[in-house]
Amino acid sequence: MLNKQIHVSLNLNVRGLTESATLAINNQSNQLIRQGKHVYRLGLGQSPFPVPEVVQKALRQNSHQKDYLPVQGLQTLREAVARYHSKYDGTHFNPGSVLIGPGSKELMFLLQICYYGELVIPTPCWVSYSPQAQIVGRQVVSIPTSFENEWRLQPESLRQLCEQDPGRPRLVILNYPGNPEGGTYSQQTLEEIAEVAREYDIIILSDEIYGKLSHSGEHISIARYYPEGTIVSSGLSKWCGAGGWRLGTFTFPESLKWLQNVMAAVASETYTSTSAPIQYAAVRAFEGGIAIERYLAHSRRILARLGEWAALRLRDIGARVVSPKGAFYLFPDFTPIADKFIKNQILTSSELCRRVLDETGVAFLPGKAFGRPDEELTVRIAYVDFDGARALAASEQIPLDQDIGPDFIKFYCHNTKAGIELLCDWVDSL
Ligand code: GLU
Repeated sequence: MLNKQIHVSLNLNVRGLTESATLAINNQSNQLIRQGKHVYRLGLGQSPFPVPEVVQKALRQNSHQKDYLPVQGLQTLREAVARYHSKYDGTHFNPGSVLIGPGSKELMFLLQICYYGELVIPTPCWVSYSPQAQIVGRQVVSIPTSFENEWRLQPESLRQLCEQDPGRPRLVILNYPGNPEGGTYSQQTLEEIAEVAREYDIIILSDEIYGKLSHSGEHISIARYYPEGTIVSSGLSKWCGAGGWRLGTFTFPESLKWLQNVMAAVASETYTSTSAPIQYAAVRAFEGGIAIERYLAHSRRILARLGEWAALRLRDIGARVVSPKGAFYLFPDFTPIADKFIKNQILTSSELCRRVLDETGVAFLPGKAFGRPDEELTVRIAYVDFDGARALAASEQIPLDQDIGPDFIKFYCHNTKAGIELLCDWVDSL
């Protein structure tokens, strides 16, 4: 009876909501490890690399910072973030346009609370955009993308959607380098998307949290082509290896100042401000400099080599996979060898992940968690299960203009390599 009352009193929007898939697979992996199983952790997308030493030092030096900080963020940090984006994204941001939050995820949630338009998400997409919309009762429209188009939003698909109801306010989320597929956009496509956005007054939330992990070292923000309507989302979690520090940033165009201010007002009534020592340390991270550039160059080289190896290995067994251009994800599609799976009663991506985890200990996530139909045999592999500090130290011994070679992956990215080999052998054995 009591249970029934509790159930009935739940807000309808959150009924049936369960833990986010990325965090759930991490918990499940931890649980299996506690039970003594060996798990290859390719589920949660967490940077394998340590926080750069200079940034760790800044945190140690600021452990005494104890005061509440301004809700929009520490002024010196807002200045550093504005300089960082102005330098790397080729657009001018002033410190007043920066909003600091406890993770970009929380800022995205605030945005969805405050902005009333329709949310448009190209899929596959990161696991939390859509549940956040569901929690606040926001309408979501997905634009499915395809392997043939490297899982990229096509400007004409966006145009077609807008033409159906041109006056409707819309928020479109772009994420590149992308989670879950590691793809990026060419300059031309960004310009074309910007053109559609301008024509239909779209707000673009450009989730560029993996921007510094573009394997080539080149990343172009769409804010360059659509400065008046783009909010750029970033933070320390990925490029700085500091997911658990929880520090995210939004930069707003002048025309969306009203939105920034109302988000800050909601923040002031909820989390008050982001952790003070973390904000002081983040100033050092966004200031950059040679040590951080070197750290990034080595991180990118390792991720590029590993991603390239993994894509080839998965293609060997018949999956179709786009070679990753950034971040640390692969999104293989097993459709070309679906017969093997069907013969073994594996009809969905969820079942596929369950079976592989049970039978091999390799943990990764189904395409369903990223907004794809469960019947599509796609999965996300986060190729991050290795000791990043050890790999970085080894990479630093090899000049940056040289290839680290195939043995590097074998010696320094062992668990990821072994997990992917196990998955491939398992598929071969079906
Ligand atoms: N962004 C990471 C992922 O997709 C983990 C963090 C999260 O989902 O909150 O795995």
